[in-house]
Amino acid sequence: DALSNRMARLSSVADDKKLKLQEILQPLYLSEETIKRIMDTMEEQMRLATSKDEATRKKSDILMAITHVRCLLDGRENGDFLGLDLGGTNFRVVHVNLKDGVATTNTKYYSLTEEVLCGPCAGVFDFIALSIEDFLKQENLITSEQKLPLGFTFSFPSTQIALNSAILLTWTKSFKCPDGVGQDSVKLLEEAISRKSPNLPVDIVAVMSDTTSTLMAGNYLDKKCRIGVILGTGSNAAFVEHLENIEKYTGDFKEPKQVLVNVEWGCMGDGGCLDFYKTEFEKEVDQYSNHVNSFTFEKSFAGMYLGEFVRLVLVKLTNQGVLFNGQVTEELATRWKFTSGFVTEIDSDKGSDTTKTRQILEKIKVEKLATDEDVAIVREVCDFVVQRASYIVAAALAVLIRHVNLPEVTVAIDGSLYEHHPKFHNYMMELISQLNLHTQVKLILAKDGSGQGAAFAAVAGLRQKEENIV
Ligand code: BGC
Ligand code: MG
Repeated sequence: DALSNRMARLSSVADDKKLKLQEILQPLYLSEETIKRIMDTMEEQMRLATSKDEATRKKSDILMAITHVRCLLDGRENGDFLGLDLGGTNFRVVHVNLKDGVATTNTKYYSLTEEVLCGPCAGVFDFIALSIEDFLKQENLITSEQKLPLGFTFSFPSTQIALNSAILLTWTKSFKCPDGVGQDSVKLLEEAISRKSPNLPVDIVAVMSDTTSTLMAGNYLDKKCRIGVILGTGSNAAFVEHLENIEKYTGDFKEPKQVLVNVEWGCMGDGGCLDFYKTEFEKEVDQYSNHVNSFTFEKSFAGMYLGEFVRLVLVKLTNQGVLFNGQVTEELATRWKFTSGFVTEIDSDKGSDTTKTRQILEKIKVEKLATDEDVAIVREVCDFVVQRASYIVAAALAVLIRHVNLPEVTVAIDGSLYEHHPKFHNYMMELISQLNLHTQVKLILAKDGSGQGAAFAAVAGLRQKEENIV
């Protein structure tokens, strides 16, 4: 199988070590059947989640949330719009100017401190309000007569009530505010604005997940884009769905008879449906994570967890004497110290060049212990775990591609893992082509799409208001 082929290629490693390495990596190997089972599970979860029967919907871990975004841009739009992007490591404010459908985008980053991330959520929203104010002042937009239509990317699972109303279900990723759950993120933002900057000339038209905004941005770049994916700190997807395919849909059936659906696949498996592939590593990542027993699917591959995943494999290999002369340094033993950025660095070494790998080994203080054999094994582990991670997410994506069912489809992807990791894209494509989907698939990077796309959703929202589409 593929794992034996990998071992055969590791010519610089002694046979006894290779055997142990293979034994430890074996449970991580995804057979064709396992991939197929992931796909079947995802399909079933989607079906359950769109049922009109509430009890049936509850059987699914995923949301399949109806975003209320019905329109995509058609290339004739004009005006100034704002986008906000909250969810990952940086908060962003974006100004988009549209001239006959051509966007000029200006972005500023504001970083949230650990203190704000873990404090009362009013702190987070106050921070956003003040950042908008700062941005508008710097961009000379504060004087504008009219309120600027604003789209708010709020990348946490929420129950979408209307285009501009969404109730937070849970914080995820590095956000650990003790409150906020059960509240409307738009109201929270409006309250913060009236506390901090009551005259801010903004009108919150839409709130959405980053997948929705990434899809909007992707569709601006390529009209064939029907799916948006985030592969960053967390992961999720959205796609354009025909209204008649959504059993639970209760809105109007006006043209365009479509709506963006936010899958929320990160929490797939929380009810046990993915237990069949979970390894000891997934379980340990979960056990020490911010949100234990949740976000099962995400924990197999997203950026917040991938480094820790690799670290656990390296620790196991070291404890079994395969690496670093059996010595686990304090740095290697420290949870979350090994980031997915490290994995990206290691996987960026090409051919026989090991410069970056050695730099990372220095960071975890094993450089002096590391032989050439160790370096080769570390590289192999990273590559293998990344291939598995990309296959897992690509399997779920493949289900969406199959579901969208078009001869050609473009998938817009945003997020640090996809953007910076040198092999994620190729591995995803590798699996997708092996699956023979009868669709020509293109994966494109929609860099910072979730900020720009939020502004685009505000554009769509205004059109929907005009045409009375709900
Ligand atoms: C959140 C999603 C989000 C994804 C990507 C997940 O943790 O639950 O809402 O889209 O991260 O940022
Ligand atoms: Mg993001």
